[in-house]
Amino acid sequence: MQQKIQLRLQPNEAGNENIVREFIADTLGKSYNQISGYNILKKSIDARGRQIFINLTVNAFIDEPYQQREIHQLFLQDVSHSLHSVIIIGAGPAGLFAALSLIEKGIKPIILERGKDVKSRRRDLAVLNKEGIVNPESNYCFGEGGAGTYSDGKLFTRSSKRGNIDKALNTFVQFGAEEKILYDAHPHIGTNKLPQIITNMRKAIIDSGGEFLFGKKVIDFVIKENKITSVSTADGNSFSADSVILATGHSARDIFELFFNKNILIEAKPFALGVRVEHPQEIINQIQYHCSTEELEKKALPPASYSLVEQVDGKGVFSFCMCPGGIIAPAATNSGELVVNGWSPSKRNNPYANSGMVVQVEEKDAINYFNKIKNKNSYVKNNALLLMRFQQEIEKKCFAAGGGGFVAPAQRLADFTNGKISSSLPQCSYIPGLASVDMQNVLPGFVAERLKEAFKQFGKKMKGYYTNEAVIVATESRTSSPVRIPRDGETLLHPQIKNLYPCGEGAGYAGGIISAAMDGTKIAENIAAKFY
Ligand SMILES: Cc1cc2nc3c(=O)[nH]c(=O)nc-3n(C[C@H](O)[C@H](O)[C@H](O)COP(=O)(O)OP(=O)(O)OC[C@H]3O[C@@H](n4cnc5c(N)ncnc54)[C@H](O)[C@@H]3O)c2cc1C
Repeated sequence: MQQKIQLRLQPNEAGNENIVREFIADTLGKSYNQISGYNILKKSIDARGRQIFINLTVNAFIDEPYQQREIHQLFLQDVSHSLHSVIIIGAGPAGLFAALSLIEKGIKPIILERGKDVKSRRRDLAVLNKEGIVNPESNYCFGEGGAGTYSDGKLFTRSSKRGNIDKALNTFVQFGAEEKILYDAHPHIGTNKLPQIITNMRKAIIDSGGEFLFGKKVIDFVIKENKITSVSTADGNSFSADSVILATGHSARDIFELFFNKNILIEAKPFALGVRVEHPQEIINQIQYHCSTEELEKKALPPASYSLVEQVDGKGVFSFCMCPGGIIAPAATNSGELVVNGWSPSKRNNPYANSGMVVQVEEKDAINYFNKIKNKNSYVKNNALLLMRFQQEIEKKCFAAGGGGFVAPAQRLADFTNGKISSSLPQCSYIPGLASVDMQNVLPGFVAERLKEAFKQFGKKMKGYYTNEAVIVATESRTSSPVRIPRDGETLLHPQIKNLYPCGEGAGYAGGIISAAMDGTKIAENIAAKFY
């Protein structure tokens, strides 16, 4: 017999298989030996009270042999001689999952990726961090695996309506992720493990007969009778296929410019902008678990995280992409623009906790901003690129404020809210370095004022959060795409171009690794349904 039961355990009990079996036996009124094993279905931490509990939902095997969890694997066909082929622009999670799903359906993907493979990309990241030089084709956003490769690899998503989350997680396990991502309430993989998983996906795509091409920056399309007949790359090549999936991510500004210049329909899309805040991890552990970092291991607890949100003066201010035990990364794609983001290794064992802290930005905010700085050339009313230009403007301002070389403008948290320039800055994980500035002069006023108020409110929710031991670093600006590429709700096709599928985060249909992956799968399944 198998039975699903819920258990509430102390953290070190939950990590011990024998103890969990004892609890299962007690709960079911059975003997220990009658429980042959169990599979965890859900695991979450309840740290609301002074005592911390782990909530486990398990499937227990009683008086019958234990069976290991089944991993639902994609069955990849040989597509080398497929009658149908699809060009996928961009090898981020959306592009990779689209390719795998096309192969599952017997269709050949041709992936065109502007960047390099994960290994070569790592070298470019080292140069960026240590020498402050960015390669515009190979950085934290561009290259194999997209923006998701050198990330925290958090796989939590609220977008259950967008697709099958379990299928996406199982696919990550098929290509090398640990099984615990299937049941952790907030699963994550870690920067150290993601590159191998992405490499395994590429190998599977190539072994199945798909094409996977690096250094292929798409710069133009030939459009005839409302269809893309060929795709041109910067190295002078061109490619043709039945359909084109555009999965170029939120940082492919040249693609947005290309659409704009070719009069292909795109729209400005609200996004969020702010700073990355970093605390010593010790402070966050004390606030959330009432215990020191040293005690974590004894108590079998992971480094603590948080999620904060506040409405300030009619706008949402919220934490974004929180990385416990993480590093703040220079995530710009061009020189002269400063962008920060965060990542962490699988063990999340760095001494800092960082998180984006961002404010919603709408078109009217950008118009007011440009009006105030009297830079009316930078925007045209109703311009689809308005919010992208605003994003770029703030990134440039931050680069200049840091003094170059990706040194980031920064201020201690309480100093910022009190309008005081920090006389010194704390140690920070951001490798290119920090410059002490008055962030009020760097951030747009509507962002700075709301952040100040929100930080005070967050300090009330989490006692110890509002402290000068924390530092804010600017700017967190690539939270989502500032442009939407429209598509039909049913066919998923662009309204003007009858074989173009806008896909993933860049087109405005995803906000993270899993939702981008699910969007890639959804498009591939849609294409397959048309062919067969
Ligand atoms: C440092 C960092 C940490 C992050 N942490 C997390 C996290 O923990 N959890 C989470 O869910 N999300 C995280 N994100 C966000 C996540 O990575 C993205 O939401 C996700 O990768 C979007 O997937 P995508 O496939 O739509 O686009 P992308 O991943 O952006 O991929 C787009 C791809 O297209 C390529 N491309 C662009 N233009 C062209 C062109 N003209 N020709 C050819 N190729 C092109 C790019 O090189 C890139 O490989 C993080 C992002 C960063 C930068």
